[in-house]
Amino acid sequence: MKLNYLAVLIVLAGGGMAGCGSKDADVRPTDRTVYVDTKTKQPVVHQVVTSVPAVNPETGERTLMPGLYCPQCQTWYPVPPPDQINSRPNAGLCPNDKTPLTVDGPWPDDTSTKNAD
Ligand SMILES: [Zn+2]
Repeated sequence: MKLNYLAVLIVLAGGGMAGCGSKDADVRPTDRTVYVDTKTKQPVVHQVVTSVPAVNPETGERTLMPGLYCPQCQTWYPVPPPDQINSRPNAGLCPNDKTPLTVDGPWPDDTSTKNAD
């Protein structure tokens, strides 16, 4: 009896947290992530897709690969899809300086400070 009650509470709490996620503007949507166009080398925020390369909405070409960020170069690099990345030891490392790449880089949409002029 007590256990059941606890389980319900946990489910309610979990569901509540997930449901309220959109309330916080600082939380990044989980259905989008950073991809890198292998042709233009430009990072693109794109809906999470199950098969890559994904179509770049800007060019209409199937050139988007999952992106990981190098804090050293401050650059997003295209990497193999998650099911292949483990079979390539260096895939998670920066091609320039071998810094471990991270998913926590600044999103292209967030880089409004990086202006051209
Ligand atoms: Zn680097």
